[in-house]
Amino acid sequence: MTVDALLPLSFLKAVRSVDAPDDDPDAEFVPELRNKRLGLSETVYLQIQRYSEAVKRNQRTVHDEVVALATLLGRRPDAEEVFREAGRFLAREAYQTVPSSLRRLLHALPAFLARPLALRRANKIAARYLNGVVRRVGTHLVLEVPAPVTLDSVAREKGCSFYEACLRELLTLLVNAGGGVDHVRCSARGDGTCEWRAEWR
Ligand SMILES: [Zn+2]
Repeated sequence: MTVDALLPLSFLKAVRSVDAPDDDPDAEFVPELRNKRLGLSETVYLQIQRYSEAVKRNQRTVHDEVVALATLLGRRPDAEEVFREAGRFLAREAYQTVPSSLRRLLHALPAFLARPLALRRANKIAARYLNGVVRRVGTHLVLEVPAPVTLDSVAREKGCSFYEACLRELLTLLVNAGGGVDHVRCSARGDGTCEWRAEWR
């Protein structure tokens, strides 16, 4: 099983962004603190280069490698913040793969025409980047991810916030519909799969 390289790239970009010293003016004067921050380390820098190259070449990453990365991040006390940031990053990058003509169309069309198109796109993005499926169930849109890469991490349910943030950001970008997203079924709670539901009228 493989994972699109954009997914592990999103994890590392999020770590780097969360660990960036912007909000902490003292950090740059304290080298020891810089070294303690994973996101600013040489290792993360090199891994970001590696995954960025893989994204350019359309190479996928082995599932276990991404699970190991998610587990590492899951140990952080700010794991949920990192996962959410990663989800938004992935959504923004994936949205860039939607042709600009279609992006404009989605915002110009009335909802009843735009939403079926947006649903198809969201499903395509979920299949490629999240190993998931997006479908409509009544007045809701459901994202199902049978094997979240964050599931083995100590954070587990916190890791699910990666997918939730990604779905919300994606729906906002596609059709400005990223309001409430609920995590209705969760593998971490023994439901056998993870599902998120958003309103979709
Ligand atoms: Zn879950």
